[in-house]
Amino acid sequence: MSIGESILIMLQDEITEIEYNRYIKQLVFCTESSRSNYALFHAPNLLIANWIKNRYADKIAHLFELKNGIKPTVSIEVKNKNQSSPKPAAIVPSNETVQHSMLNPSYTFENFVAGSSNQFAYAAAKSVSEKPGKVYNPLFLYGGVGLGKTHLMQSVGHVLQLQGKSIIYTSVEQFLNDFTRHMRNHTMDRFKDKYRKCDVLLIDDVQFLSNKIQTQEEFFHTFETLRNENKQIILTADKHPKQIAGLEERLRSRFEWGLVADIQPPELETKIAIIKKKCDINRILLSNDVINYVATIIDSNTREIEGILSKLHAYAQLMHQDITIEFAKNVLKEQLQEKRDNVTIDLIMSTVSKELNVKPSEIRSKSRTRNIVYARRVAIYLAREHTPMSMPQLAQYFGMKDHTAVSHTMKKIQELLKNDENYKVKIEELSNKIMTPSST
Ligand code: ADP
Ligand code: MG
Repeated sequence: MSIGESILIMLQDEITEIEYNRYIKQLVFCTESSRSNYALFHAPNLLIANWIKNRYADKIAHLFELKNGIKPTVSIEVKNKNQSSPKPAAIVPSNETVQHSMLNPSYTFENFVAGSSNQFAYAAAKSVSEKPGKVYNPLFLYGGVGLGKTHLMQSVGHVLQLQGKSIIYTSVEQFLNDFTRHMRNHTMDRFKDKYRKCDVLLIDDVQFLSNKIQTQEEFFHTFETLRNENKQIILTADKHPKQIAGLEERLRSRFEWGLVADIQPPELETKIAIIKKKCDINRILLSNDVINYVATIIDSNTREIEGILSKLHAYAQLMHQDITIEFAKNVLKEQLQEKRDNVTIDLIMSTVSKELNVKPSEIRSKSRTRNIVYARRVAIYLAREHTPMSMPQLAQYFGMKDHTAVSHTMKKIQELLKNDENYKVKIEELSNKIMTPSST
């Protein structure tokens, strides 16, 4: 099998079966003309060539890179496999019909890891995919960034799309832009047609509807029309409908009509399972040690995982090395450094305050109460260690006389660290909490 063929097989796991059979299967890798930095495929017609170019050329190049360590320019040219029986030129549909949906091919149920942090949302999404418009309408999924809301919502979209339903996936931002554009062009009929005639409407990040009165109005009517016709609606947001400020009451109450399901940050076990899943999808082989290590350095935002994996894989290929723990630590040093750059004084204050049960205002006060002094010292030490704040900046922040007061505190803490094992453990524990906020 040529490398080109094996790349196409790798792609099979990342896209829907329909798309694979309809488009990718028609490609022929051209071994003679391809080089390490140039990959040529032949497609039977322009429609297929353009489709693949627009959607998959990058992905194909990336897969080559994963396999070879070199990212080639991917070219797709039209050449009929069966030159003897040229077919009449296909009618090329307009772009609008080709882009029937914008679902991410890898956001499927098969690729989603269910764990206790997302069990409820997962089960709800599953039943919606089995009985669209019947069980929970709308389904409202909420939770923090990178916890899989979009993935889960699109998984339902894929199932229903395969049944021939028309799906619209959009963010509130796109909806808003679309709305403004049609208003300006006096083509609101088309806008209404588009959103009110689909079978399934997936709207991402509805917290951005906040305070957008006109969009809320339009969205309300879209919502009503679809729901009255039992068309399935799925919404996501970073918070519960009750917590979204600047949202009309009639929308808020409708958002809660169906089912509101939250997604919590994954526990270590689920993180590990997600990493394994991503490794399978991307055909990356990692030992359990390395998988566990990666799981401990990422925080709850699972978005980082893919970046980390391809980085590890690419380095390993380039350097002809296996991915051992030491190797992983080395490669990911920067990643950790970046994280450190993200530690803010606010994060330190809230962590210390929560863990030591002292109010932030007390930490920054001049109080000499024992536990408050203790918390203040810890916060100063952590801020010095983990943020770029200078001594004068720290003095100002903590309401101390000047930088010598900070320097004095630092010396005290260093002494304590040397002589008091309990103190050392506590500081280490807090440091870890700050570096991986999900564990707090
Ligand atoms: P959100 O919309 O909540 O911000 P996404 O759905 O965009 O998060 O997910 C971010 C990334 O993490 C995606 O690559 C997604 O595939 C992955 N991911 C998140 N949760 C899971 C999970 N439970 N199983 C598999 N992949 C997940
Ligand atoms: Mg999202």
